[in-house]
Formats: sequence, C-alpha cells, structure tokens
Amino acid sequence: MEREYMEYDVVIVGGGPAGLAAACRIRQLNEEVSVCVVEKGSEVGAHILSGAVFEPRALNELFPDWKEKGAPLHTEVKGDEIYVLKSAEKSQKVPNFFVPKTMHNEGNYIISLGNLCRWLAEQAEALGVEIYPCFAASEVIYHEDGSVKGIATGDMGIGLNGEQKDSYMPGMELHGKYTLFAEGCRGHLGKQLIEKFKLDEGKEPQHYGLGIKEIWKVPAEQHQQGLVVHTAGWPLDENGAAGGSFLYHIEDNQVVCGLITDLSYQNPRLSPFDEFQRYKHHPVIKQHLEGGERITYGARAIVKGGIQSQPKMHFAGGLLIGDDAGTLNFAKIKGSHTAMKSGMVAAECVVEAIKAERSSDDIAEYAEAYKASWAYQELWAQRNFGPAQHKWGNIIGSAYAFIDINIFNGNLPWTLSDPVADHDQLKPASEFPEINYPKPDSKLSFDKLSSVFLSNTNHEEDQPCHLKLKDNDIPITVNLPKYDEPAQRYCPAGVYEIVKEEESGDCRLQINAQNCVHCKTCDIKDPTQNITWVVPEGAGGPNYPNM
Ligand SMILES: Cc1cc2nc3c(=O)[nH]c(=O)nc-3n(C[C@H](O)[C@H](O)[C@H](O)COP(=O)(O)OP(=O)(O)OC[C@H]3O[C@@H](n4cnc5c(N)ncnc54)[C@H](O)[C@@H]3O)c2cc1C
Ligand code: SF4
Repeated sequence: MEREYMEYDVVIVGGGPAGLAAACRIRQLNEEVSVCVVEKGSEVGAHILSGAVFEPRALNELFPDWKEKGAPLHTEVKGDEIYVLKSAEKSQKVPNFFVPKTMHNEGNYIISLGNLCRWLAEQAEALGVEIYPCFAASEVIYHEDGSVKGIATGDMGIGLNGEQKDSYMPGMELHGKYTLFAEGCRGHLGKQLIEKFKLDEGKEPQHYGLGIKEIWKVPAEQHQQGLVVHTAGWPLDENGAAGGSFLYHIEDNQVVCGLITDLSYQNPRLSPFDEFQRYKHHPVIKQHLEGGERITYGARAIVKGGIQSQPKMHFAGGLLIGDDAGTLNFAKIKGSHTAMKSGMVAAECVVEAIKAERSSDDIAEYAEAYKASWAYQELWAQRNFGPAQHKWGNIIGSAYAFIDINIFNGNLPWTLSDPVADHDQLKPASEFPEINYPKPDSKLSFDKLSSVFLSNTNHEEDQPCHLKLKDNDIPITVNLPKYDEPAQRYCPAGVYEIVKEEESGDCRLQINAQNCVHCKTCDIKDPTQNITWVVPEGAGGPNYPNM
C-alpha cells in the first residue's frame, strides 16, 4: 500500500510548549500559512511532564490577554523555600540572601504544563492550526537534494514480528515547505537530524537529568497553595550523585513533588526510582505528604547542558526548537518559557521565509534571531551553573553560581566546560558496594509496578518493540558483568529485567516495552549507547491527566 501524503506550509512535530507556541505565532503573523502539528500522545498534554513553576514571559508576548482567555495559570507563587538536606533526618534552610537569583520565583505560577498545552492547543486550533494527536512522527522524509521534505507517521497494525495485521494502515507523509522539530528532550528524530547534519560539531556533549514526579491530594489543613520548596543534597549525595527535588502546592489541595537525578552519576547500582522513594521520607518533605493520597506518577528526562551543548538549530528544510535543541535554562530549572520563545522566534523566521517564496532551504537567519532573543541571553548569563555543579558538587557549585549570577550577572569572562557525556560516566559495579534500599511502606513510598500503573501508560502489545538494541548480546555480555545491567535500575518503569532461565541458568534481558513512560533515559544512559528509543505505534505511552 502506497503512503498517502498531505502538504502544508509548515509541519510541526510535537505538541508541547515549543511546537504549540510556534504554531500559534505563525498563524498570528499570517493566517494564509497552513500549519499542522503531530503529537504522539493520545491527546495534547498526555505525554507532557514538567514541574512546573512557570515564568509567563513568553506567554505574555504570545497572548497578552491570556487571563481573559482563561489560560490555566491559577496559582501564583507565594513563598520560596530552599533546603540542603544533610542526611535522612537533618536539613538546613538556605537564607534567602544566598539563593541564586535565578531560583527566586516572584511573579511566576505553579501550573500543570500538560493543562497549559491543552489550552495552547485550543488557541492554536482557533487560529486555524490542524492538530493531529495519536500520530507519532517516526521518520524524516528528505528531498533528493538532502533537504528535509517533511515527516512520515508510523504504520499502524504491524505485529510483534513485523507482519501486517488485519488492522494494518500505512503511515501518512506530511510534507512542508519547512518542518519544525519540537519533540522535547532527546527527541527521537532530533537525534537523527543532529547526527545527519552534524549539528553538534564543536559543541559539548548534551547533559541530562531524570525527573520522577508524583501528584498527591493532601488534607486541606496541610495545603499551602503557592508554596514552592526545592532541596539539594540527600539522598542522592549519599551515593555520590547530584540533583535536586521540587515540591509545589498547586490548586485543589494537590501537592506535586519530584526528584531530578543528574544522569552523570557514576555508580551503576544507583536507582533514581528508589532514591525518590526514600526522599519522600525526609521530615522536610514528609510533612507535606503525610495523610495524603498519591494520585499520579510519571517520569521524563530533562535536558540541562545549556548553550555549551546546544546544537546548531537550522538545516535545509527545518529547524530544531525547544528542548529538542536543549533550550532549557538549568540555573532556573525552567525550560517552558525558553522553549516557547525559541518556537516563537522560529515562527517569525519561517513566516518571513515563506513570504519571500522560499522553501526547503536553510533558514540560517534563525541562529541570529534566536541569539538576539531574551531566551538565548538568559541561557548565556547562566551558562556556568550546570558545569559548576558537575565540577564542584551541589554546595560549592551553588556558592560559585551565587557569585557568578548574583554578583557578576553572568558576566565573568569565562565559560566552564563539562566535556564528559553522561553515558560515559558509569564505572564498573565492582567498585561500589550493593545499595540496600528500604522497602516501600505503601504510605509514602511505593514499588515500581504500582507506580507505573498510575501513569496510565498503555501500548498495543502486539507491535514491534520500540526499544531497539543495536546488539542483542551486549546487555548480557557487557552490561551485566561490568555494570550489573544498570537499565534494571535507571528505568523508572521497570521495563528492563534480567531473567534467569530455570533450566539452563542462563541470563537474558526481558524488555517489558508496554510499561514504557517515554522518559528516554535508556537512550541517554546506556553505557554502550546500545539502546535506541523509537516511537511506538501512535497514541501509545502514558496518559497523564495534569502533569
Ligand atoms: C521533572 C521536570 C521538571 C521540570 N520543571 C520545570 C519547571 O518547573 N518549569 C519549567 O519552566 N520547566 C520545567 N521543566 C522543563 C520543561 O518541562 C521543558 O523545558 C518543556 O516542557 C520543553 O518544551 P518542549 O515543547 O520543547 O518539549 P516537551 O514539553 O517535551 O513537548 C514535546 C511534545 O512532543 C511530543 N513528541 C515527541 N516526539 C514526537 C514525535 N516523534 N512525534 C509526535 N510527537 C512527538 C511529545 O509527546 C510532547 O507532547 C521540567 C522538566 C522536567 C522533566
Ligand atoms: S524504557 Fe527507556 S524510555 Fe521507557 S520508561 Fe524505561 S528508561 Fe524511560
């Protein structure tokens, strides 16, 4: 069966803040330009997971009347607390004066980014954008001259072993004068484009964290709407890892909390999931959750290399925007506003190019336009935050950030480097003792399977596995003996299991792909880069209500 195709002026891959802001801006500037957005979730927002404390700067520019239009920003930040957790019991509150100013949240909102995306999708549709949820872009389509022609969505109805089932439907091609890739952190097509067009030449490796998040409903008398709490230190530092936590009191007596584990950790015995479970037992955190009920669970990688790691964002026929290009500002732990702004600047360049009757060429002027934007400028000023944390750890790194950002406004005349890729950081398991994580108490802490259940993740079981191994033997011949197969622990959804065959006693890797929550950690952290995450059949994956 031939693939059908549809033609648009602009095709956008990904209905997150970057893709939707770009779509809206294009149509605001010129309603003659046809735009479509494909989104792999069952609906816009279903795959979005963020904190989220939201800085409304880009939204103010995109929809100055967002309040009247009913944007879901209901909770203004009322208080900011930062703690260094020193042990399982002890903590030190950081005096406000010493907090890097990037961590202050006056004027920001605690939101569900998923809900903001749902609202942005409504605005985009009202402006005439066509949005196709349940369609995963699985392939980049090229013109004969090598420029990007568009994308193809995945075939539906392919069985586990590659055979066509009765329900088979070939994917659809979407052709555009320009294609914007807005897949978020570690985009599957973005990764291919970076490699094909050598967009990362001369750049530092990208860096990542894994964020694991839950939403809790807590007793009303315990709820402090608008309170923002961040922590650093314990439990991750106990195992030589870095990262930090967030806990926000959002509306409806809900508290969101999460732990971001920096994926540069060296100890393959570390389990980010179990670190998160024990973190919730710390007195600073426990007091907010006790007596409450956990309602949602999810996980997503976060991109944090900053401008040193940002790939070139333009190539013939397309642009990378948002976290597909690493636009997150790690010093603020915020990326939604910069993702939106990068999309809006892209929109302006694309509309000008189309007006000049250009098509499928390299919109190189995007680089300058992005550099001139406040999004780039704030990333530039805070460029040393992440490398300082990696070099000197949370405490000294934060002290450095305080001097660099609060005193010198990011104008110190050097740029710190962070040259080792996260997957190259793991050391042999034999160098570390076993970690005996406490058993979950099913009140504050839980096991992986009951957690994954709350992500509502769902995949058609009879389909090819979307977690591709370049070499099927490596998990058993390399990863198991050398690193005790770390995928068993870094995957927050229990997808990877080492199973011992009863008769032979041989070990094999079992991949429970249907549990995957699309966090992309395996694609990032596998020490031999043997795992490639590809899109599963459309609509597969988590169904987050308001992450
Ligand atoms: C744990 C955590 C906490 C965070 N906290 C904050 C915070 O407090 N404040 C803040 O501002 N930022 C925060 N961020 C960062 C913020 O969420 C991101 O910077 C922002 O979501 C990036 O927007 P994006 O549009 O580039 O990508 P995303 O939001 O990731 O959206 C990408 C979209 O594209 C879709 N997609 C991906 N691939 C395909 C494909 N091939 N085909 C079709 N659709 C596809 C995805 O399903 C998704 O809907 C946090 C992130 C994490 C993980
Ligand atoms: S299989 Fe990979 S992408 Fe899926 S949940 Fe596990 S680590 Fe994340």
